[in-house]
Amino acid sequence: MHSRRDFLQKLTASAITLPFLPNSTSLEEFYSKPYDGPVLRVAIMGLGGYGSRVAEAMQSSKMAKLVGVISGTPSKIKDWQSKYKIPEKNCYNYENFDQIKNNADIDAVYVITPNALHHNQVIRVAKAGKHVICEKPMAINAKEGQEMVEACKKANVKLLVGYRMHFEPHTLEIVRMRKAGELGKITFFQGLSGFKIGDPSQWRMNKQLAGGGAMMDIGIYAINGSRYMVGEEPIWVTAQETKTDPQKFKEGVDETITFQLGFPGGAVASCLSSYNINNLDRFFLTGDNGFAELFPATGYGPIKGRTHKGELNQPIVTHQTVQMDEMAAIILQGKQPMVPVDGEEGVKDLKIIDAIYAAVKSGKKENLKL
Ligand code: NDP
Repeated sequence: MHSRRDFLQKLTASAITLPFLPNSTSLEEFYSKPYDGPVLRVAIMGLGGYGSRVAEAMQSSKMAKLVGVISGTPSKIKDWQSKYKIPEKNCYNYENFDQIKNNADIDAVYVITPNALHHNQVIRVAKAGKHVICEKPMAINAKEGQEMVEACKKANVKLLVGYRMHFEPHTLEIVRMRKAGELGKITFFQGLSGFKIGDPSQWRMNKQLAGGGAMMDIGIYAINGSRYMVGEEPIWVTAQETKTDPQKFKEGVDETITFQLGFPGGAVASCLSSYNINNLDRFFLTGDNGFAELFPATGYGPIKGRTHKGELNQPIVTHQTVQMDEMAAIILQGKQPMVPVDGEEGVKDLKIIDAIYAAVKSGKKENLKL
């Protein structure tokens, strides 16, 4: 179990000033002082591998608290009820969760189910009048993503996408350096995202539930990373697919895709997304005056990195603990994150994914309008 003490032990430096909660207090200050402000009361939908990780990490969050569950598995609901002291009245299944609209003790639902289910589930949560945090990819194509954005706007609720790296200190330091001009004019980004996937019967290998293959699941980190690292929106993409095992990676489930992005300022990105190559978790950004590297770049941590100025020594944090605090501040206090995590941000990544799949098919450069 994560206690606040465990969490603080992971902070490697003191008084590091980051754009952290609330109102730019340092990370250490925020986690070491008592907090008695507003708290976001969250229900998690989908009590699987990642949902469990988020629940565990949220125990150390100060502005977000797990108060409810939505699950198709009664035995998991029982386990979570006793582990997290969740009252019966805050437990739902996939048939009855629209009733959450009558539950004044839940502010937001965090959707952590297979990708293809997000669209319908997020829209139902919005219609129930609750804020939504949705895991990446927010949907399986940009059209669905846009519909989710519109449903949340119409219901006057916030929609955030679970981009945990947008709150990770090493990542944010590079973004800060790039924004401050310390790397000079940005010329190139490389994003490598992949791992060898196991069990072929899991939902990630089923196009119906995953919406694709490695690109939907892990390639999205390189796509999203290229945008916040370069600091511009790409205007074209080219892509090539390699499939060495068509038995395992069925039609519509991509195994390995290499893709290239072009940015308006002239920078280019060269990226790789794979379900069949291990140790692929590296970002490299270079400009006329300096460079930055993260390796590992997007795993659960510790994230490690260096720049032309030397090793990065930002605090090591539990990503989901900080993410939930930051997201609570966005929802409750209107905080503006350094790198956006709203629904529109998720749709941009999906537009790029749509264009990558189109480029694989056409063999041509596809133009992008984000
Ligand atoms: P899991 O398979 O571990 O869990 C998914 C859960 O969704 C299941 O346990 C189940 O929970 C629920 N579910 C509902 N319908 C289905 C269905 N038809 N098939 C399978 N499960 C179903 O997946 P993950 O937790 O790894 O991934 C869930 C989401 O989180 C994905 O969108 C993934 O991309 C994202 N993710 C994000 C990560 C990040 O770092 N941001 C890391 C890992 C995943 P129940 O029994 O309670 O109904």
